[in-house]
Amino acid sequence: MGKMKKLKYIFMISILGLLCCKTNTKIAEKKTDTGVEFEYKPTKAAFSDFQTIIIPKNPNNSYSRENVSKLIDYLSKQVINKEINLSIDSSVSFVDCGQEFEKVFCPNCGKEIDLDFWHELMEKASANDFSDLTIQTKCCNTSTNLNSLRYIADCGFAKSKIIIYDPETRKINQNELLVGIKRICGFDSKIIKTHY
Ligand SMILES: [Zn+2]
Repeated sequence: MGKMKKLKYIFMISILGLLCCKTNTKIAEKKTDTGVEFEYKPTKAAFSDFQTIIIPKNPNNSYSRENVSKLIDYLSKQVINKEINLSIDSSVSFVDCGQEFEKVFCPNCGKEIDLDFWHELMEKASANDFSDLTIQTKCCNTSTNLNSLRYIADCGFAKSKIIIYDPETRKINQNELLVGIKRICGFDSKIIKTHY
């Protein structure tokens, strides 16, 4: 083997090695009724009732199929040995905070919104798969939308979401994580902590 040929050969091997490392993150793809789901489950991942959910801030944005491996690869390095699930749906759904849900406030006047009234609005919006989130508040007659209401704890509306299973994810630097995600997909995301 000539020296150049040998070098080329070594170069190819290292490229292959890099590629292998990159695809080391095993992602299982599953079809759902309304979209697709990608699951990354390291063998050491533990089951938990606590979830950290990452969704686009704007319900019109969605994580794309092209970014799935980049997002999961990035997150699996930020949160070691955690199960990560990324789902992409055709329609918007409500992403709630489970047991942490307490109250909803008007973003304009700050008054608490009656939960019966909120449920009524949610039922109407869900009948159209949350394609129209616009509402009118009773307290100050403001035109706003369900996603702009202030939820305690925070909730959201999204077509796609990333779930990280495990309470330990609360220890991570959230701002840093969101910056990293923005670098991959180009838009802002937010974190919702859920406990069932
Ligand atoms: Zn108001």
